[in-house]
Amino acid sequence: MEKKEIFSQVIHMEERIGTFHDELGELKEQLAMLIEENHALALENQHLRKLLDEKDTSEQGNDTTTSSPGKKSVGEGHDNLARLYHEGFHICNMHYGSLRANGDCLFCLSFLNQK
Ligand SMILES: [Zn+2]
Repeated sequence: MEKKEIFSQVIHMEERIGTFHDELGELKEQLAMLIEENHALALENQHLRKLLDEKDTSEQGNDTTTSSPGKKSVGEGHDNLARLYHEGFHICNMHYGSLRANGDCLFCLSFLNQK
């Protein structure tokens, strides 16, 4: 193999490595975004499951005690929503159950203050 040929092969390989490096960087960025998104979804899922459990339990409670829906369960429901909001989730009709990314939500706050 001639030296010139080897040299041009090395140049070519260097270019390909450069392209690989760029692609690797892009993949790394996408991976970071996916991990972040996955984390947010896992958190959201966990909270929704918890809420669902609480809802099931309170519905079962209402079924057995029958008589009156009562003020108590309404108050508890409101407390649950308030807690959910303070844990960083929307409780408003607009974005219910999703993560509050940008601080306070006026819809949520007006909903909380209705009581
Ligand atoms: Zn909201």
